[in-house]
This record gives sequence, C-alpha cells and structure tokens, in this order.
Amino acid sequence: MRQSEALQILEQKIAGCTLCAELTQYRADNNYQTVPGEGRPNAKVMLIGEAPGQNEAEQGRPFVGKAGKLLTSIIEACGWKREEVFIANILKCRPPGNRDPLPEEAANCRPYLNMQIKIVNPKWILCFGRVASINLLGKNPEASMRALRGEVYEYEGRKVICTYHPSYLLRNPAAKKDVWDDLQPCLRDLKVA
Ligand code: URA
Repeated sequence: MRQSEALQILEQKIAGCTLCAELTQYRADNNYQTVPGEGRPNAKVMLIGEAPGQNEAEQGRPFVGKAGKLLTSIIEACGWKREEVFIANILKCRPPGNRDPLPEEAANCRPYLNMQIKIVNPKWILCFGRVASINLLGKNPEASMRALRGEVYEYEGRKVICTYHPSYLLRNPAAKKDVWDDLQPCLRDLKVA
C-alpha cells in the first residue's frame, strides 16, 4: 500500500475515534474536527507539537493559528517548504480550554502517532515543546525544556531533537536563536544549513 493511502486510512480511523470520552464530547459539542496531521507522506522530517488549538480544531489542520504561522516561518528558515515536511501532534483532538493533555489521553492517542511515524518513516523528528518531547521520548514529566534541549536523541532508529514550542517563542522571541541552534544537527545532516 502506498504511504499516502495508509495515511488516509489512518485519518479516517482518527476521525471516528471515541477513546477519550471528554475529548470526544468536546469535539461534538463544538463541531470540532480531529487533526490528524499533514504533509509529505515520505517526509524526511516530522515535526511534532502538543495538541490542536481552536483554529486547528475548526479547520482540521495542524498549526494554522498564530503559533502555526511562526512554525511555518521556522520551517522556511530551515530551507524547507511546509508541504515537504510532516506535521503532527501528540493529541489529535483539542483539549478543553487548551489544557495540557492528560497522560491517559496521550496514551490513547499514541498508536496513531506511532503509525504515522512508521508510515512516513522520517529520518528526523523535531519535538516542539515539553509535552511533545516528554511524551515521544517517555521522559520524566517534570523535566524542563531547558534540560531536554541540546541533545540528539534516538527513537526507533530516528534522530530526535527537542526544542521550544512556537507558542513559547511568541512570548519569548529571544529564544528563537536557541531553536535555531537546536535544529543545527538536523540541518547539517540534511545539508541545507
Ligand atoms: N499548538 C500545537 O502544539 N499544535 C497545533 O497544531 C497548534 C498549536
């Protein structure tokens, strides 16, 4: 089966998911969509965020709000186009009031992310923010972003970088340089820096 077909089948599964009662109810009450993720089915780089916000849940697309615009700028600064990477989240549904994902919600949603990683088969995974980083890598939930940065991790044969979430950068623009530094090992490897 082609990668794009496999992703489409997974998207349909996600759209009908009812594993998290509160998220399912919230989705129905607000006419929100699931946000499976999007991008090139064989992208070399997968970007992982936390969970959809309101704009994302309304449109069914990841990172389309203010933080998304900044993420797109980061992608372009790396020399890529948004369509040539794959963008996903730990949760495929918007948590009420943008609260942090609960551990059981992240666990329920994890098989979808695992399937996306398997299908897309990226060489690099870039985790944006603490929630993405600790969940993907199974790190101590108390770990700070400062502690998680500055190392290239390995996850199932792929290289992983943990860096600040674009929402954090909107509040702390000075940290953009840190994100740029964090991404260098990936950029060097893919020879676009
Ligand atoms: N923040 C995230 O972590 N993911 C999105 O898709 C949008 C905002």
